[in-house]
Amino acid sequence: MDCIFCKIINNEVPSDKIYEDEQVLVFGDTNPQAPVHFLIIPKKHIKNIREVSKDDLQIISHIFDVIQNISDKLNLDDGLRIVNNCGENGGQTVNHLHFHVLAGRALGWPPG
Ligand code: AMP
Ligand code: ZN
Repeated sequence: MDCIFCKIINNEVPSDKIYEDEQVLVFGDTNPQAPVHFLIIPKKHIKNIREVSKDDLQIISHIFDVIQNISDKLNLDDGLRIVNNCGENGGQTVNHLHFHVLAGRALGWPPG
């Protein structure tokens, strides 16, 4: 499958890895929108949040647990934002489920 994030998981494309376990990978976004901007993805190829099966919901809670742990390690005490873009109008450009974590500056609201 021609998926850039699957290639990152398989080490066919390099990435700035922050954390990895059996289920997820966390790496820096190559086009950071804030001083801290990383992506967390399931190792299983799931297209987007609407395609998550009931059996895979456990991965989503694990993702949020990992985000909490990394936020603690990076001392993101001033706040952060978790973003999931889904589908064309949602601004999703990579069709492998991912959550953005942005921090390190005051973030505007609403997004565009
Ligand atoms: P989205 O627009 O929500 O689908 O986000 C895709 C994100 O993946 C963008 O923020 C890109 O900068 C990022 N991205 C694309 N290719 C890579 C890559 N090879 N390594 C790290 N981040 C990437
Ligand atoms: Zn993939």
